[in-house]
Amino acid sequence: ANPRFYEARLLLTDGIEDIRTTIDEITNRSRDESQSDLFAALEQTQDRFEWVGINPDTGAQALYVGLPVKLAGGPTGAFTERPSVRGYLLITQDINDLLSSQLPPPWDQVYLMISDGHSHEHSLAPLTGHSHDASAAQQTSLNAQLFGFSTGGWHVIRADDVSYRHTSIQLNERLKLNAVFPVELIQGPSRDVGRLILSTAAVVLAVCLPLLLLWFHRYYVVPINRLKQALGGIHEENMSAQIEHHSNDEIGELFRAFNSMSRRLAASDKRIRKLAFADTLTGLPNRVLFQKNLQRALSQADREQKTLALMFIDLDNFKIVNDTLGHSAGDLLLQEVALRLQENLRAEDIALHLDGNDLKANFSRLGGDEFTALIPNLTAPHQAATIAVRIIDSLTDPIVINEQPVFVGASIGIALWPTDATEATDLIQHADQAMYQAKHDGKNTYRFYSDSIGAATLLRSQIEQQLRQAVAESAFQLHYQPVINSRSLKVEGFEALIRWNNKELGAVDPDEFIPIAEDNGLIIPLTQWVLEEVCQQLFKWRQQGHTQACVAVNLSARNLALPGFALDLIEMLHLHQIPASSLAIEIKESVLIGADKQVMETIQQLHSAGMKVALDDFGTGYSSLTSLHHSHIDMLKIDGSLIQTLTNDNNSAILSAILTMAEALNLKVIAEGVETAEQLAYLTKIRSVLIQGFAFSPALPAAQAIIYTPQAEPNRTPVKDPTAC
Ligand code: C2E
Ligand code: CA
Ligand code: CA
Repeated sequence: ANPRFYEARLLLTDGIEDIRTTIDEITNRSRDESQSDLFAALEQTQDRFEWVGINPDTGAQALYVGLPVKLAGGPTGAFTERPSVRGYLLITQDINDLLSSQLPPPWDQVYLMISDGHSHEHSLAPLTGHSHDASAAQQTSLNAQLFGFSTGGWHVIRADDVSYRHTSIQLNERLKLNAVFPVELIQGPSRDVGRLILSTAAVVLAVCLPLLLLWFHRYYVVPINRLKQALGGIHEENMSAQIEHHSNDEIGELFRAFNSMSRRLAASDKRIRKLAFADTLTGLPNRVLFQKNLQRALSQADREQKTLALMFIDLDNFKIVNDTLGHSAGDLLLQEVALRLQENLRAEDIALHLDGNDLKANFSRLGGDEFTALIPNLTAPHQAATIAVRIIDSLTDPIVINEQPVFVGASIGIALWPTDATEATDLIQHADQAMYQAKHDGKNTYRFYSDSIGAATLLRSQIEQQLRQAVAESAFQLHYQPVINSRSLKVEGFEALIRWNNKELGAVDPDEFIPIAEDNGLIIPLTQWVLEEVCQQLFKWRQQGHTQACVAVNLSARNLALPGFALDLIEMLHLHQIPASSLAIEIKESVLIGADKQVMETIQQLHSAGMKVALDDFGTGYSSLTSLHHSHIDMLKIDGSLIQTLTNDNNSAILSAILTMAEALNLKVIAEGVETAEQLAYLTKIRSVLIQGFAFSPALPAAQAIIYTPQAEPNRTPVKDPTAC
């Protein structure tokens, strides 16, 4: 710095200037300092002295440095006298320039100030240089506050509602350089900087945000949506959903993980489906899957307005195979059937035959020997018939099991959607009813569901209902049809035939309700009633003297399969004091073909007990006599259907063959359903056969039956005792 004013003075103890020297020539306005604050401070100082104040000569801020001048003795003083103050050496240095040194704005607003550590009332050095910014009052207030602070650090001081920042550094023991500036000075620029930063940030954001969003959308939203879609696919059972991906980042990783999970899910889903939906024996869809497929096919048919056919396929002779060859043979048979169904009815094959229409037969196995076929997209019902014929044909060739050819046929019921039903359950029921009708109509054939089948089914269910009650109330009668020796005109015995007159249904044919009773098990109590009734009747007749009376009773497979049946029957005869020889049992040829061990044992027990065993309806079951267990059979009852067609040469040849064979096997023969004199004459001519038919008499109530006398031909004499066995 280049101080403008520099002054050295020697003041005497009374405050009057003694000597003065200056650099610049300036008027001396302070010759007498005795009254000044400066001198008052100087007087109190024993040592070096510093003081900051206004130089009255220049009016500028000045730093005063002084030293007391001490002299001991002097020309008048004693030698031992202690030195005393004789005056003060005082140097004045203006520091205005130093404090107002040119600083660039805004730092030129910083107030620099030197303070001297004396009591502030008189050592106050007013702020200089930039006093234009602060009012006089502000300056005084600021000055007053500066003394409270220790050196270093930052303090906030306020004057007239303006905030200032203050800091100081110690120049020496007493002198301090203070800096004071309005807080605004740094807050203003920092606010500007803040604003700049804010606006820059806003611009950056405005530019970057869309880009960021775009990037986010592309790299996160789009892939996540794809993932969501794929997950949705899994939800809708598309387990093998895969997402294409090329990136190696986290999303790519996620996709890879998803794909692998999806693959595994698909594999286990396949396994589970196989376990839950496949028939383990044939590999065809099982009942559960059939239901699902049906529902799906029905909605599709509705959507596309197409006709759908549901087929119920039931094997005709499965039970016989199962019973005679064993269950494992039955399993092999079912597997072969499933194979044939699928192989012979491949979609392409059918399509070729059915007007180029894309038809598929979707097979299932519901259980046992029950199969179904779903055929969607039919354009005409006859297409279903074509497929049914193919199915029947495919099962015509014998199936070889354990090197043995087995013949199975199939009965097929067909119901059409939406013609025959509007509910899935109805469609199933109707296909089942049509199948039942096909069986009823002679098996190995197909039937479309019709209203008459529906009516027949309804009747069947009514019969079943009424039958239950009738059995409980024993609301039946027994009629007896005489069996006559055509040559001797002797009544050889009777067949007991049940009659049922229901108040709602009227007279119901045994051919109608017996099969139902056999199906639902009512045949057991029903046969029990018949046997009891026959025993009582025989007992009555015997009491009346008809000791030779003999009655044949029809037994069904279920009766014979009942363990203990034979013993119970023997016991019953015993109770009524009836010899076993008075009772004959009739067993249908079909029962004997499929007879199991228990059935054979029952027959054998009854036979051994002395009852005659007749093979009923012979000639309808295509069984060869020699293959039957004929050792316990005493009689053959030739079915009425064969008798009805006797005029046919072929049939008479069959009949004479049967008769010859029966003779060889020592079997009696009864011709059933002999209606005309012509048939009677024909039979009588061949051999001595027993006749049962309307040609003589229908079944009669007991009282009439016992007195029945066959009408003799003109040249024959009727036999006296009509009841002799
Ligand atoms: P089925 O054992 O073959 O009995 C002979 C059937 O032929 C009887 O019919 C009889 O009335 C009928 N019939 C007799 N002569 C003639 C004839 O000259 N022409 C014609 N067209 N039919 C004749 P029904 O009584 O209606 O019995 C039908 C079937 O019901 C029986 O056939 C038998 O299988 C069963 N059935 C009848 N009663 C019983 C019974 O008490 N128990 C069992 N398990 N089945 C019975
Ligand atoms: Ca019979
Ligand atoms: Ca019969």
